[in-house]
Amino acid sequence: MKYFGAHVSASGGVYNAPRNAHDIGATAFALFTKNQRQWLAAPLSAKDIDTFRAECEKYGFTPRQILPHDSYLINLGHPDADGLAKSRDSFVEEMRRCELLGLDRLNFHPGSHLGRISLEESLDRVAESINIALEQTHGVTAVIENTAGQGTNLGHRFEHIAHIIDRVEDKSRVGYCIDTCHAFAAGYDLSTAEACEKTFAEIDSIISLDYLRGMHLNDAMRPLGSRIDRHERLGEGTIGMECFRYIARDPRFEEMPLVLETIDESLWPAEIAALKSAYIG
Ligand SMILES: [Zn+2]
Ligand SMILES: [Zn+2]
Repeated sequence: MKYFGAHVSASGGVYNAPRNAHDIGATAFALFTKNQRQWLAAPLSAKDIDTFRAECEKYGFTPRQILPHDSYLINLGHPDADGLAKSRDSFVEEMRRCELLGLDRLNFHPGSHLGRISLEESLDRVAESINIALEQTHGVTAVIENTAGQGTNLGHRFEHIAHIIDRVEDKSRVGYCIDTCHAFAAGYDLSTAEACEKTFAEIDSIISLDYLRGMHLNDAMRPLGSRIDRHERLGEGTIGMECFRYIARDPRFEEMPLVLETIDESLWPAEIAALKSAYIG
């Protein structure tokens, strides 16, 4: 089964997300379990947790259809001891929130070396951060997202993701998510079916598709290799609709959340409908 959705709002409480997803015709969704621009959050209450679980059941969402995203402040490859410690604590906290909500994966950006340590050293820190988080939590997989490679961000080469996964001790709880806009911005062509074939073959040979735990379906505003992270409406950007039809049809992307982070929320019902019809057709 293919599951399509979007990164929906959880404002007013995490338990609002499943209904927000259902209302746009989604069979998958992404959400922030806390404010993504703040370090601190009130702990989830028993009511938050029970209501979230009940709403997921009511609207037919199982954990493999849901891809929580962590805070943008977290940098698991931080060059400084303080920044690294704060990020690690916060990441463990986010993993615990997922655990409490009955979710089985947490999507995050690997981090940034900030020009103060080498890229490889920073990637090693990310792997160590994941090892620490997995030791302190249960049942939640750490899902590394590929990035556009802006500034000193890690994760724009598939080799970076492979480097991290190689150094994670519990391979059963590490995976990755491919963001199509980020991949294209990083220089991996997805603008035709042949280009998709080649890029996914490259992903499979470098990281292995066995670790793929979800995808972000976004068109791009900037050209191939721009290294600039600007999402666009599906079919309206520099990637184009052929890529999304390719993903919608390809059986390798079943049983995982495929979520939009496109810029016009009012188009989500139509974008999801287009993906669903490409899947059936
Ligand atoms: Zn992301
Ligand atoms: Zn993304």
